[in-house]
Amino acid sequence: MLSRLIRLPFELTAREKKQLQNQMFEENIARGMLFARIIIGLEAALTVADVTASISNAHESFHFSFYFVMYMLMIVMNICFLLAARRYDPDKTYSPEQFRRYQGAFLLYSIIFVVWGSIVALADQRLYGQLMAFVVNLMSISVIFYFNNKTILLLYGVSTLVLAAGLPFFQASGEVLVGHYVNLGIFVFFTWIASRILYVTYCRNFYSKVLLGQSNARLEQEIQENLRVHRELERANEELLKLSLVDDLTGIPNRRAFDQQVQSMLSSQDAPDTEVSLIMLDIDYFKQFNDNYGHAEGDKVIKSIAGVIHAASRGPGDIAARLGGEEFVFAAFHTGKEEIAEIAETIREQISGMKITHEFSVTGEFVTGSLGTATGRVRNNGQFAELMKIADEALYAAKAGGRNSVVRMNMPKTRPLSVDGKKTEDWEV
Ligand code: GH3
Ligand code: MG
Ligand code: MG
Repeated sequence: MLSRLIRLPFELTAREKKQLQNQMFEENIARGMLFARIIIGLEAALTVADVTASISNAHESFHFSFYFVMYMLMIVMNICFLLAARRYDPDKTYSPEQFRRYQGAFLLYSIIFVVWGSIVALADQRLYGQLMAFVVNLMSISVIFYFNNKTILLLYGVSTLVLAAGLPFFQASGEVLVGHYVNLGIFVFFTWIASRILYVTYCRNFYSKVLLGQSNARLEQEIQENLRVHRELERANEELLKLSLVDDLTGIPNRRAFDQQVQSMLSSQDAPDTEVSLIMLDIDYFKQFNDNYGHAEGDKVIKSIAGVIHAASRGPGDIAARLGGEEFVFAAFHTGKEEIAEIAETIREQISGMKITHEFSVTGEFVTGSLGTATGRVRNNGQFAELMKIADEALYAAKAGGRNSVVRMNMPKTRPLSVDGKKTEDWEV
């Protein structure tokens, strides 16, 4: 239990030790300034009392002059301490040399203070036979200031040595002398324990603050790291989302992107329904092309045709996408059947106009495409899917009709649609 109070249970780094030393010194100086003022006041009062006693001849002149000198010495020393302490600025960074000089001066002040107590206690032997001056001074510095064991050893050692060595010369009574030595030993031991407890408590508090600072810094670091990972994940997610919406080969929107954009167009429409036109496009005799010119060449053709259909887009109401394989789709919102037929025809012409040799095509010597269009008033996803089916039927009609052509599927004026199992209103085409 006692060892817990007087021993430091932790290890500090060199930097932390220096920090502790500085803080402790600052605290000692601040306390010392108050202490010095009290001592000056006390010694001034004692001087007045001594002078008064001397004038009234209360005791012999030797004691008057000795105590007077000792009080004056104490006053002068404390004034010097105050002047030096005022010059010390805790916010300033001192060089190690300067700091050591300040520490040295403070140590000297403390030594003189306790040795002063020893000398006065020796002088007191002739008058009162007591050790009060030594006890008060040693006790004061032990509980007011923070000293490490090395300093304590020096302060206690020097002052006790002076007193112990001097006592036989000043104290005539052997009995009193023995009593003094016993009391001195007990007193020094307990004063050391009190001083040690104060010192260890101060260090413990400092260590707790260091630990708190460290865990705060660690927490801050973890928060920053989490934020960084979070931002990276967000970026990766955005990237993934973009990738998941773009067709790998052609770089134009894929089926998923097409569905999403259609969905957002349908949900943002202000009118109850919108006129939508669709084009379905499929490359003619593409299997033969692949088989004869190779897959890589086939890929190039797909890319070129993707470029054509993508370029046909006129604005935010148009969506061109690769559905998969050699099939493409083009959706045009707020577009009528004549307009979409024109767009489809232009695309068809541009494909054959690229003049990509295809000796194995039945439609001619170049790569061609078949297109089917469908137009209708669309209100929801179910109706849009229906329109896709019709465009698909138109495309296969174009295939059946000999390919390299555009077929417009004529929608019946009334067509029962099954959306969520319910019949919806007629289509108008
Ligand atoms: P049709 O005129 O009736 O459309 O005949 P087709 O040969 O074009 O149609 P089919 O569906 O028989 O063949 C489609 C071919 O498209 C089969 C496959 O080799 C090719 N294909 C599908 N996806 C790709 C692709 O990503 N790259 C390449 N190079 N070829 C593909
Ligand atoms: Mg196909
Ligand atoms: Mg095909």
